[in-house]
Amino acid sequence: MELKERFWQLTQERFGRAPDQCDDGQLYEGLLLLTQQMAQSLPAPDSGRKLYYFSAEFLMGKLLSNNLLALGLYDPVKKILSDLGRDLGIIESMEPEPSLGNGGLGRLAACFLDSIAALGLPGDGVGLNYHYGLFRQKFVHNKQAEEPDPWIQPDSWLIATGRTFSVPFGGFDLTAVLYDIVVPGAGSGCANRLHLFDVERPAPQPWVGISFDKEDIAHRLTSFLYPDDSDEAGRRLRVYQQYFMVSAGAQLILTELEERGFSPRQLSDHVVIQINDTHPSMVIPELIRLLTDRGLSMDEAIDQVSRTCAYTNHTILAEALEKWPLSFLQDVAPQLVPIIQELDRRVREDHPDPRVAILDSQGLVHMAHMDIHYGFSVNGVAALHTQILKESELKPFYDLYPQKFNNKTNGITFRRWLEACNPSLAGLIDQCIGGGWRKDPRQLEDLLNFGDDPAVLERLLAIKQDNKNQLCRLLWAEQSIALDPQSIFDIQIKRLHEYKRQQMNALYIIRKYLDIKAGRLPQRPVSVLFGAKAAPAYTMAKHIIHLILCLQQLIERDPQVRPWLRVAMVENYNVTWAERLIPACDISEQISLASKEASGTGNMKFMANGAVTLGTMDGANVEIAQLVGPENIYTFGVQSGQVIQMYDEGSYRPLDLYHRPSIEELVDFLVSPELLSIGDPACLSALWNDMKCKDWFMALLDTEDYIAARDQCVGDYGDRQGWAKKMLVNIARSGYFSADRTIQEYDQDIWRLK
Ligand SMILES: *Cc1c(COP(=O)(O)O)cnc(C)c1O
Repeated sequence: MELKERFWQLTQERFGRAPDQCDDGQLYEGLLLLTQQMAQSLPAPDSGRKLYYFSAEFLMGKLLSNNLLALGLYDPVKKILSDLGRDLGIIESMEPEPSLGNGGLGRLAACFLDSIAALGLPGDGVGLNYHYGLFRQKFVHNKQAEEPDPWIQPDSWLIATGRTFSVPFGGFDLTAVLYDIVVPGAGSGCANRLHLFDVERPAPQPWVGISFDKEDIAHRLTSFLYPDDSDEAGRRLRVYQQYFMVSAGAQLILTELEERGFSPRQLSDHVVIQINDTHPSMVIPELIRLLTDRGLSMDEAIDQVSRTCAYTNHTILAEALEKWPLSFLQDVAPQLVPIIQELDRRVREDHPDPRVAILDSQGLVHMAHMDIHYGFSVNGVAALHTQILKESELKPFYDLYPQKFNNKTNGITFRRWLEACNPSLAGLIDQCIGGGWRKDPRQLEDLLNFGDDPAVLERLLAIKQDNKNQLCRLLWAEQSIALDPQSIFDIQIKRLHEYKRQQMNALYIIRKYLDIKAGRLPQRPVSVLFGAKAAPAYTMAKHIIHLILCLQQLIERDPQVRPWLRVAMVENYNVTWAERLIPACDISEQISLASKEASGTGNMKFMANGAVTLGTMDGANVEIAQLVGPENIYTFGVQSGQVIQMYDEGSYRPLDLYHRPSIEELVDFLVSPELLSIGDPACLSALWNDMKCKDWFMALLDTEDYIAARDQCVGDYGDRQGWAKKMLVNIARSGYFSADRTIQEYDQDIWRLK
């Protein structure tokens, strides 16, 4: 049946009317169902070995246009709608964003699913069906407030499969119900699935705390993504969530293995499990348990599982490396305790070094250690990150198992992060080099032939300007912020964390503010945009949001400063915002403390959209710098080796830096009468005090160098031709960061799927 006919029939059946009589919401629902039906009819990729990508987060973003693009229906549907006088952009805006992730890690999982399907590889995601994703952020009195963010509507991307599994918790069992989201592969003609497990009878009420009787767990286990984990109750719920996910996921794997006609003894021949950070690590003891239940000896089970599981490390931040008290596990999944003790015993037998033990002397289970000993691969997510893992963070393990360690530099899907979010730029690229880059982003390098073509450079600048104009209209409509679209758009969007150093960006804003007040005008007007959510219990991160919002208000009220410097923080930063902000960016802020950002993927999205990076030599910034060369990136700051040494020696002294007049003036502005009259004195002075006396992520260390590099960058922007050339080189060299490339490497070196 023809597409148009099919759509007419669908809205007729569903709403009793033709599309031209439907409202926007009905058209959205109709398109959702149409897309879902077509995606569901695609076959799964031919299976050799099958991958299961286990992740506590999948930050999918809106799916309608992504799926239409993957199915090749985007243009036809757009045409059908425009013939009706309707706009696909408006229809898309009806879709709630499923925010089932916190940030980069969850977004990476989503990009990977997209690439795995596009490459026609057999690989499904396994996660949880949170009813409320990450909280919705509101600004109230210049502070972050959190609200629940429901995303599941009567019509959603979830498909009830009817499959259930029983998960045995200590003292009670819970039924896991499987929902699927179909992941159609762009151009591959096949589709994979994202498997999301839910409880059988989820609580209808929004979250209002939780007590730990099992009835509550039974209804609320999947209510929220990563609830506040600052108290014991929250942390226990997280362990319940993790075990629920891996137990149901492991049972699904064994069921599918059997359906394909294989025995549990053949697990590693036909299945590979990628463990995305340590949240799914309990899949290792759980699979061992299930295999021994099915008649394998402990030796056989351990051997199978060790040849099936591979682990990706995402962080070296100590506070993010999971360690669970064995007593929690005793409550949640007592059947795993003897298995973990046996795994630990075997490790100790072979390796007396206590640093590589699974169970430590305080009774904590080190999840990453279990993954490394009982997985066959350990990878970092950017060259520098993997090097740091080998040389310092995980050195004792690297000495034991050098062959297990490998690097897989992260990537992004260009289908979402260039084709879909920046259609004008995509069109210009087509005109220059043809459409081959859409299948193979490495072909973007052909753009280098246009580095001296004034017409192309001019078009590049015009498209950027157009995207900035569009962003201005959106900011005005959504938040009544009126920016000057001619100003430089300098953007930092990412989770709020001290290591990402939004506070250092704020110090630059203060520098410029003081300069302007003293009559020293900047080279040109700059708009500094932020988007960031802070974890609800992360006090210092919330103080930094407060500081930024106070600076925003201070400047908005000041007619002397406003024409030269603006600050705008978008409310509720999420994937949808990112898709609007990134195409409009001139300067991409990637200013984490060297050694702390494992990779970053925001940096890659910006680069592909022609923003120039201002960054430290951290994570994938190092690889960006190598690809574009020093003329096309602004780097600054102390290098990772020196930072690691300072931590080892405990030699960092923020107070000494604070006492430099150039820095003291900036830090003290936090407690100036101007700012105190706007903000909360308790928050601002707590932040002031922390920056002076603790500054754990060394913002003051790089502040002077940062200000100089940023001023240089702002100055160079004035040479429009020169700047356009930098943009072009960044776009041209960004193809390396295609998630398709990353996935091909995973497949070649780790998964071996076909
Ligand atoms: C890409 C992305 C991130 C990751 O950004 P980083 O700068 O790499 O930390 C976080 N949140 C959203 C919504 C994203 O799209």
